[in-house]
Amino acid sequence: MDELKKKIREIPDFPKPGILFYDVTTLLKDPEGLRAAVDVFTQRYADKRISKVLGIESRGFILGPVLAYNLNAGFVPVRKQGKLPAETLNVSYELEYGTDTLEIHKDAVEPDERVLIIDDLIATGGTAAATVEMVETFGANLVEVAFLIELSFLNGRAKLPSDLPVFSVLKY
Ligand code: AMP
Repeated sequence: MDELKKKIREIPDFPKPGILFYDVTTLLKDPEGLRAAVDVFTQRYADKRISKVLGIESRGFILGPVLAYNLNAGFVPVRKQGKLPAETLNVSYELEYGTDTLEIHKDAVEPDERVLIIDDLIATGGTAAATVEMVETFGANLVEVAFLIELSFLNGRAKLPSDLPVFSVLKY
């Protein structure tokens, strides 16, 4: 896994001073890096009967569909407000300053489905928590929430339900 970490570019003070940004584009452009990252998720969920992979905008749109394809599951985008064309379910969550809203199509998930949420990175956990709330509204079975990177020092897991399995490949 240290090999994977080496492929992720770290950019200080982006998008604002004090933030160390983990840029996964350098991993994604590397054929071996991309394969290794996707393989970890595919192997973990291969026999979990996942029917829908929910990817969070925007880097969850890169890993999510590849994983869904490998699992014979469908892919559903969770988007920032105002991007989805049909009827949506909205969940707002707190940011450092103000709030943000995520949306999902109302007909995207059925109550009997087995759902996996994926994003590139969990920081404070607000984004993931809002997406978990969506799955709960659908009444679907949330199997796990998965991330390539977890910023453990921010303890984002604490924002998620305590009985919900959370998986991350690389911890910082
Ligand atoms: P949070 O809601 O605080 O867990 O933030 C998670 C979302 O913000 C994810 O979609 C990440 O892609 C993005 N994000 C937050 N912090 C970083 C960071 N240090 N480097 C890269 N992406 C980040």
